[in-house]
Amino acid sequence: MQTAVRQIAGRGKTIAIVPTMGAFHKGHLSLIRRAMKEADVVVTTIFVNPAQFGPKEDLGKYPRDLKADIAQIKATLGRRARSAIVFTPKAADIYPEDFETWVMVEKLTKTLEGAKRPTHFRGVTTVVAKLFNICRPDVAIFGMKDYQQAIVLKRMTKDLGYPIKYVIAPTVREPDGLAMSSRNRYFDDTARWEAVCLYYALESAKSMVKAGILSVKRIEKEMQAVILATCPTAEIVYIAFTDLDSLELVKKVQRGTICSLSVKVHGVSLIDNMKLG
Ligand code: AMP
Repeated sequence: MQTAVRQIAGRGKTIAIVPTMGAFHKGHLSLIRRAMKEADVVVTTIFVNPAQFGPKEDLGKYPRDLKADIAQIKATLGRRARSAIVFTPKAADIYPEDFETWVMVEKLTKTLEGAKRPTHFRGVTTVVAKLFNICRPDVAIFGMKDYQQAIVLKRMTKDLGYPIKYVIAPTVREPDGLAMSSRNRYFDDTARWEAVCLYYALESAKSMVKAGILSVKRIEKEMQAVILATCPTAEIVYIAFTDLDSLELVKKVQRGTICSLSVKVHGVSLIDNMKLG
């Protein structure tokens, strides 16, 4: 990989990287399409990163389908597939036995997802830093679907001085509004329909803000009701209203406020978010 990127740079070509864990859906493919617009060569990385899973999380059963993923990348890139690279390192390549160096973003990782997954973000930042070092991209594309991750990695990119254009691409949704996610494959029919509860809650929040209701307490109460009406067994992990960049909690919706939430639907943790202000 390092030899390949040196050759690409030597020919004066630019590289856009799309880091993923595979099991592709249209959200991943939209990032690849964006990467095609941003640079000459698209490098898609597929690596189910053990370091970002907690001990009780779904590392073992996380969906893996490399053959189908590569076919989808090829179909998306068309003629550009010839110059593209799919980088699929093994866990032992990224984390050799004596590995002990971690990259950590301190404050932004304490809230939201970080509060319930204490070692998650250091796994994310460490693997992405390694991927940046190996692939030397000019542009990096991440999805807004994982909002806190996008903000944390943006801070890491800036703080460590990577000369990389950082792009956050919009969330791709199913026709009913459910944000696409590799974890949606876990659902049976009932659970799949009920999983739309996160989107319904976010839409209700948006309508309330449009109607002039800005109190976070009132909006949150309504969102809880919408979630439970759609999925009676849902476990709401958090509903948070934060500033888009600082992730600081706000009491009233204002310019730049984003609502993000985490809900367990039939045992599967889902996250979603929407800009409200
Ligand atoms: P993952 O394979 O789930 O780690 O995701 C790889 C990249 O795809 C991350 O930057 C995600 O934010 C992004 N992504 C995941 N789901 C979506 C979606 N529904 N729309 C757009 N981007 C997404």
